[in-house]
Amino acid sequence: MPPTATIRKTTLRRSGSGIQIIQAANLSKLPGVVHGFSTRVGGFSQAYGGCQLNLGFTSSDGRQSVERNRRAFIRELIGKRDACQLVTLRQIHSGLVRILKSKDRIPTHPLRGDGVITRHKNVLLGIQVADCVPVLIVDLKRDAIGAFHAGWRGTVKRIVERGVGSMRAVFACDPADLHAAIGPCIHSCCYAVGDEVIDEFRSQFSYADELFSEVYDRDPIKEKYPLLFLTARAPGHSNIGPQKHLDLVEANRRQLLDAGVPESNIWVAEECTSCRADLLFSHRGEAGYSGRMMGVVGLIG
Ligand SMILES: [Zn+2]
Repeated sequence: MPPTATIRKTTLRRSGSGIQIIQAANLSKLPGVVHGFSTRVGGFSQAYGGCQLNLGFTSSDGRQSVERNRRAFIRELIGKRDACQLVTLRQIHSGLVRILKSKDRIPTHPLRGDGVITRHKNVLLGIQVADCVPVLIVDLKRDAIGAFHAGWRGTVKRIVERGVGSMRAVFACDPADLHAAIGPCIHSCCYAVGDEVIDEFRSQFSYADELFSEVYDRDPIKEKYPLLFLTARAPGHSNIGPQKHLDLVEANRRQLLDAGVPESNIWVAEECTSCRADLLFSHRGEAGYSGRMMGVVGLIG
């Protein structure tokens, strides 16, 4: 069995602007590092319930609101210090890690891929999520950072493991020096998956079965009207039985550990996006009608 995840208490930073940012205990202690995971609270979006901090250019929200929200979020993160440029990704659920070398110009358009690493100072790497796992990594010895987007497909493609590998190969990072933060995402409590997902994980990971648990469906309609759902099928053959739930947090924590990141250097947010609809956007929890949050990391220098 894998070691149980060390879930540390989240610091929820409340700001004067009404925006709430979740910060990782480990990254907060590192000098010269700015980071944060946005929530839905505050902001200028009228969509998704109004006064929301939607940071993604979705079809239901206006571009101006999103740009205003992004400015407010970044101002909240970096305070009165010099402006930083935000680098985002056009996320495609891949294992593709983009490398931003010191000689490279900072892109003004989103880069296609699901991870980005750099040694640039005053650049914020941003990952957009609404259930998927945002992972931020910092190496202060090599002044390198990385940000990764891991849904179930990206997790199967080992985006986080590849990301650490790229940091080693390109920036000579020692995994023992890396500090990682796994931000708010959908937890296993709310993440029922089908056989095709289980099969993909089994094909890739020797520990796949440890990532799934059986959860009995707590559908309130079924609980209230059980007779409606009685079937004539033999026990174990009805579709009311347990569903398999995937633990994406543990899957990505395992990838960090396998890549050599010390367990004590990994922080995990305790919030499940689907359980905390008051605080967070959840694609699944809101049946597809949701804004996007952002996990951001940068080195100030
Ligand atoms: Zn949940």
